[in-house]
Amino acid sequence: MKFETIIEPFRIKTVEPIRQTTREERLSAIRGAHYNVFQLNAEDVLIDLLTDSGTGAMSVYQWAGMMRGDESYAGARSFHTFVKSVAGITGFRHVIPTHQGRAAEHILSSAMLQPGDIVPNNTHFDTTRANIEHRGAVALNLPIHEGHQPQTLHPFKGNMDVVALERVLRENAGTVPLVMITVTNNSEGGQPVSMENIRRTSELCRAHGVPFFIDACRFAENAWFIKTREPGYADKAPLEIAQEMFKLADGCTMSAKKDGMANIGGFLAMNDDALAVTCRNSLILTEGFPTYGGLAGYDLEAIAVGLYEALDPDYLQYRVRSVEYLAEKMLAAGIPTVRPAGGHALYLDARAWLSHIPQHQYPGWALSVALYVEGGIRACEIGSVMFGRQPDGSERPADLELVRLAFPRRVYTQSHMDYVAEVLLYLNTISQDLRGVRIVEQPAALRHFTAKFALL
Ligand SMILES: *Cc1c(COP(=O)(O)O)cnc(C)c1O
Repeated sequence: MKFETIIEPFRIKTVEPIRQTTREERLSAIRGAHYNVFQLNAEDVLIDLLTDSGTGAMSVYQWAGMMRGDESYAGARSFHTFVKSVAGITGFRHVIPTHQGRAAEHILSSAMLQPGDIVPNNTHFDTTRANIEHRGAVALNLPIHEGHQPQTLHPFKGNMDVVALERVLRENAGTVPLVMITVTNNSEGGQPVSMENIRRTSELCRAHGVPFFIDACRFAENAWFIKTREPGYADKAPLEIAQEMFKLADGCTMSAKKDGMANIGGFLAMNDDALAVTCRNSLILTEGFPTYGGLAGYDLEAIAVGLYEALDPDYLQYRVRSVEYLAEKMLAAGIPTVRPAGGHALYLDARAWLSHIPQHQYPGWALSVALYVEGGIRACEIGSVMFGRQPDGSERPADLELVRLAFPRRVYTQSHMDYVAEVLLYLNTISQDLRGVRIVEQPAALRHFTAKFALL
């Protein structure tokens, strides 16, 4: 007998209470936060879908690993455990621990980029883009055109536009020191990239002699999508698929706060010996000694275990299904989302849903405020607040106005998602009453974290 219900493949051993608040309390909290959900106290949030980054629950095996943590300054046993784990999946010769993904990006950018250089990617994540621009280089997005069409179904909507990449490589010989591909494509809706697309990108890079790095934050989720959607992979284990993916690249950056199943950590890995020396020297300056990076020995242990737990088929099936479950409820209610559902998050299409709010009044941001006020749910705008400000200080609307409901790993259950769906269905009945926002105060870069807003 094969049963249909996909269950949370774990039982709960430790619980953390979450607190109900009244609408009045939430109104006062969001006013105090200048209408920026990043500025809220987490205690005032009921269901926190702000990010899947570092918010997951660790397993008993990870906690056990932490007790084994070796806190020696140099050459700790935990470092070797960590390297063995990372190398077992990625196959890269050099593994450099960092305190999180952006530190790996910063070190890589410092080592490889000069002002005026161009770095193509299917779509740069915001920290990747900021690190590249910080070096005076250009972060170029080359997603396939379906990536910009929220309603168009495509099994690998996160793919790179390889025709455009070929042209960029040909026309800019000498000024493209690095090509990246982000799996899954976070900023385009958590959409996967096919093995065929990674292979084609890899071939183009090799033909032009340009190093190819994977932004591997969600490598396990991407492997699951390849297994379930790409011909020829159904019988392969997620681990084998991940190994095949990494084999096509020269290195990777990783945030272990995603598919590392850890609360902190990351790494940079590569095959190039000379580049590794440069990166390690920069690591010592900014993160720490090469055998711990910015991490404690126990963090290295938690990641070493977590990377493999992320590849467990039962876990991946539950994870992808959780997001799909909420997506199906939205589709049935006619609430526009990026389709198909992403691996780590459901992306609401605020431009389509709140079409009465013009882009310069930030419909996605307005929706994130409403989700909190009405339901105590915290979500993240990925639209013109996050991407609209250009390096020269000018403003250009983003391609998409999305609100991301990111799913922390192994944290919420189906009834939490039923509650989220109920709140969204309620918002659908009052959507015409929602108003836009304006920016009152903002920093020069990564403004969404700290900008202050007012309701219009
Ligand atoms: C989270 C993330 C990063 C940055 O990692 P941090 O650990 O947050 O610094 C880079 N790229 C992608 C695709 C991400 O999702």
